[in-house]
Amino acid sequence: MALIVQKFGGTSVGSIERIEQVAEKVKKFREAGHDLVVVLSAMSGETNRLIDLARQISDQPEPRELDVVVSTGEQVTIGLLAMALIKRGIPAVSYTGNQVRILTDDAYNKARILQIDDQRLREDLKAGRVVVVAGFQGVDQNGNITTLGRGGSDTTGVALAAALKADECQIYTDVDGVYTTDPRVVAQAQRLDKITFEEMLEMASLGSKVLQIRAVEFAGKYNVPLRVLHSFQEGPGTLITIDEEETMEQPIISGIAFNRDEAKLTIRGVPDTPGVAFKILGPISAANIEVDMIVQNVSHDNTTDFTFTVHRNDYQKALGVLQATATEIGAREVVGDTKIAKVSIVGVGMRSHAGVASRMFEALAKESINIQMISTSEIKVSVVIEEKYLELAVRALHTAFDLDAAARQGE
Ligand code: ADP
Ligand code: ASP
Ligand code: MG
Repeated sequence: MALIVQKFGGTSVGSIERIEQVAEKVKKFREAGHDLVVVLSAMSGETNRLIDLARQISDQPEPRELDVVVSTGEQVTIGLLAMALIKRGIPAVSYTGNQVRILTDDAYNKARILQIDDQRLREDLKAGRVVVVAGFQGVDQNGNITTLGRGGSDTTGVALAAALKADECQIYTDVDGVYTTDPRVVAQAQRLDKITFEEMLEMASLGSKVLQIRAVEFAGKYNVPLRVLHSFQEGPGTLITIDEEETMEQPIISGIAFNRDEAKLTIRGVPDTPGVAFKILGPISAANIEVDMIVQNVSHDNTTDFTFTVHRNDYQKALGVLQATATEIGAREVVGDTKIAKVSIVGVGMRSHAGVASRMFEALAKESINIQMISTSEIKVSVVIEEKYLELAVRALHTAFDLDAAARQGE
């Protein structure tokens, strides 16, 4: 008998039939003697619908009020699942983030969990009840509703598992595990039996939205055994593990992540003097804009070109700030590009293998895909390319690193 936290995503609770199916599944686990805390997302599409309603009132909805609106989706599903369980003779109770008391900071729309009061949950579990908790939401110390950022129910699940010292946190979704890349883009993508926290964190932060970044961070920090599984198909899923040794037999690259979330800005003909990078990026950071990749060209004629990427949502704002800087420091021009994509290869195997980056560049060259920017770390290489080549690049890299299902079966 174990204490298990199970999180079901939006498509898994996307209709009454699905909610009934989830209830059947939970019932089976309960009848096997496990204590269960179930965390739910809103029905698929619901959070988008709520955001859209808010945007019909205002382009930039008041963040506090937006959280009041978008947090309602999860309240519907938890009540429905609790009813479906009770109908099956399983004692169950649903709680919102406020009722559990998932205490967060007051950063509306992207709040961080600070503390979870697990007393009420423990009492319910002791009394034999299944506890159904709303994902994605919490409450700040003044009682305001907060939400944890898109995909935040994963983080609720992991945080509850950490607080309750659960035996496992199971993330149920519409794929049967973490794949070498998004299976919707590459049909030959393969499910991984295991992936390290470190790799999963890179995959998540580089664009693989199968798990929210903060959920992986949390699981790594508190060593929560975490597994991604299909909601309605049996299977082992993917275990996220701290043990690097266990995955050493895997290929050099564990996965390929990508995103279309960034935009590129270049300031040309900047007088090349000490402090130039600070003069350019200082005002950007003062405007609260996060910068991802940075490239400064070798100077010629005592001037240099400086390029960096920001989130696409911040593009217009960054462009304005950079144009003002250009005038101030006497740069020649500012240009921008929103039609870019970032593709990254990720794997702890890179630590012990040389030549990984050049193999990546060769594969892209063979497809005549131009690389605009490069950044590397110990376990990843990222490139920025033209957005229209994104899928081609991901497929080419998947093949070049022997990740294709057919290729590996034939090994
Ligand atoms: P949920 O609503 O259950 O939280 P998400 O849509 O957030 O589900 O996450 C599951 C989706 O993540 C899959 O349908 C898949 O398209 C996408 N995805 C992206 N990268 C990967 C990957 N490497 N492995 C598995 N799924 C991935
Ligand atoms: N419902 C929220 C979203 O769509 C949270 C989640 O599903 O994890 O982002
Ligand atoms: Mg999700």
